[in-house]
Amino acid sequence: MPHPCLTCGACCTRYRVAFHWMEADDAVAGGVPAGLTERLDAHRLCMRGTYSEPVRCIALDAEIGVYSRCTIHPQRPSVCREVDASWEHGRASPQCDKARLAHGLPLLGPADWRWRDPAGNDGDRPDDNGNTPPAPRLPPLAA
Ligand code: SF4
Ligand code: SF4
Repeated sequence: MPHPCLTCGACCTRYRVAFHWMEADDAVAGGVPAGLTERLDAHRLCMRGTYSEPVRCIALDAEIGVYSRCTIHPQRPSVCREVDASWEHGRASPQCDKARLAHGLPLLGPADWRWRDPAGNDGDRPDDNGNTPPAPRLPPLAA
């Protein structure tokens, strides 16, 4: 089973994504691409597309509920890193729940993370997830 966010993207079409200007790459190397932001106020930028309705972050490549990816994932703002998917870390996430509800998607629950449990990673081949890694290489036989 893939990570639920990879078939969702709802939260990237729901909230204003605002953060301090010092997170942008014209202030810090490797920061949020400044060209994808707009000025919100004296201290803050926001991701283009999230300032007004309808909200859709410019960095989002998604069909909500089908596939989703953040095109700047390694450089995404801190606020994006703080949004948990519901029950990924053992508790519900109101931001995730509201966003999924707004798109008519079912709320995530603990069962959506069972694929990460030890039983889903017990080394059987094929494994419980349908994601069978290559067999480990055997050491060469001594001559
Ligand atoms: S709404 Fe929840 S499941 Fe969907 S992308 Fe955001 S955090 Fe992930
Ligand atoms: S920067 Fe990436 S994670 Fe943040 S709202 Fe935009 S697409 Fe979503």
